Amino acid sequence: MIVIGGGLAGLSAGVALAEAGWRVRLFEQSPFLGGRATSYVLPDGEHVDNCQHVTLGCCTNLEDFYRRVGSAGKIKFFDRLVFQDPQGRIGEMQAGMLPAPFHMTGSFAGFAPLTLADKRGIALAMLDILRGKGRTADLDEPGGISMLEWLKRRRQTQGAIERFWRVVLVSALDEELDRTDARFGVDVFWKGFLSNRKGYRMGVPSVPLAELYDGCKTEIEKRGGEVNLRMPVRAIHLADGAVTAVEFDGGRQETAEAYVFALPHPAMAELANEEMKRLEPRLAELGKIGVAPITGVHFWFDREVMKEPFVTLLDTTTQWIFNKTALYGASNGAGKERGQYLQLVISASYDLLQKPRQEIIDLCLKEVQQALPAARGARLVKATVIKEAAATFSPQPGVDRWRPTQDTLIQGMFLAGDWTATGWPATMEGAVRSGYLAAEAVLRIAGTPRKFLQADLPADGFVGWFC
Ligand SMILES: Cc1cc2nc3c(=O)[nH]c(=O)nc-3n(C[C@H](O)[C@H](O)[C@H](O)COP(=O)(O)OP(=O)(O)OC[C@H]3O[C@@H](n4cnc5c(N)ncnc54)[C@H](O)[C@@H]3O)c2cc1C
Repeated sequence: MIVIGGGLAGLSAGVALAEAGWRVRLFEQSPFLGGRATSYVLPDGEHVDNCQHVTLGCCTNLEDFYRRVGSAGKIKFFDRLVFQDPQGRIGEMQAGMLPAPFHMTGSFAGFAPLTLADKRGIALAMLDILRGKGRTADLDEPGGISMLEWLKRRRQTQGAIERFWRVVLVSALDEELDRTDARFGVDVFWKGFLSNRKGYRMGVPSVPLAELYDGCKTEIEKRGGEVNLRMPVRAIHLADGAVTAVEFDGGRQETAEAYVFALPHPAMAELANEEMKRLEPRLAELGKIGVAPITGVHFWFDREVMKEPFVTLLDTTTQWIFNKTALYGASNGAGKERGQYLQLVISASYDLLQKPRQEIIDLCLKEVQQALPAARGARLVKATVIKEAAATFSPQPGVDRWRPTQDTLIQGMFLAGDWTATGWPATMEGAVRSGYLAAEAVLRIAGTPRKFLQADLPADGFVGWFC
């Protein structure tokens, strides 16, 4: 079995297939595992995530994967999400005593940045999602409808759109509301906030991302497999409608009974030759799946400027501030001194792509100083900006029709990656789902079916009464 790509999709497929008794050989082009969800070490010894990654309680497959590879204990879950506007008003989301779907009622009622009219509109829209069990009839309109259209049809106020829906969804889906299929947006609220009390809990790694994957190599190797880094695949060879080999630098070829290609979709589109596109027409459609950017800004201050582990900012370019010093504890070099390391995240950061790095630093620093009074007297020791122009696939209305399933019409070729048909947006959960589905497809075709995909969190509390 050959797996190409050592991101979460390739790793989850590889670990599952190794567990099913296959000898897995994984080839990754970079020097690290984890793909887009990884970290590296700066020359001064500090660990830096490619970008802050978070998970939610409703990401059941990612949780299962972390458990399989011994990393579940490295994710810290938080029950309290804090929002702050430029006027310093604080809003919280935290489950109270009531059962689902009323568990957020208390914190929502007291959410200071929203007006009563904003809240009334939001509550009615939530009721609509509840009645439809996460589906509303207009989600099935041909070609899909945008989330903005869905909200307008439900007469949401401008305040509710900007300070609630946009804040949650741009972060969760990495796209603006007018370019997001409402199906994904509605799903975030159904799975994350309504159907189960635990769905919204935010999981944040307490170690640099690359350290989450140490167990993957062990799982694959202890069953006779291998993990090869710095090994980019350059070509795929076919004969009689089947994959016969993959080719690496220097003309080296490797063969296997089955191949899982777990690459980002632009890389897969580039590797697919005309013959492959003729045999499997869905490979010719990959160019129709767009991409969306995320920008991460890293600040190191000479002293502590923030107590909370993270905060969401409203009405600013900066969307999230993560207190990496607190989250990492002793596992990062920065924690050794008294300074503080913050990571800022800006999803769907189209406006920043062309801006010079210094301009982004100045803009974000001003916003941090506005939000955190202690930062005003602190010295910024160093700063860096990481722009990911193709961070995720864009969840545009109707995008699902271009996402191929994990099995293909080419014998021996399986696909994995957050962009394949999982029903989920581009997330770590989506990537792991795709890996598990690819492993299931390999085993089904080999005549030894086995299930890896985990069920969603069950609807709990009073939710069943509504549905
Ligand atoms: C800045 C940023 C922030 C994000 N934040 C979050 C978040 O908070 N929560 C969340 O759930 N998701 C987040 N995501 C999305 C998440 O990272 C991805 O959905 C997920 O990691 C995708 O995994 P994957 O395995 O499908 O793809 P990838 O991680 O891209 O893995 C593909 C692998 O294939 C390798 N590869 C490519 N070409 C070749 C080749 N020719 N030969 C061999 N190997 C090759 C690549 O090097 C890579 O390792 C974020 C993404 C980015 C970029």
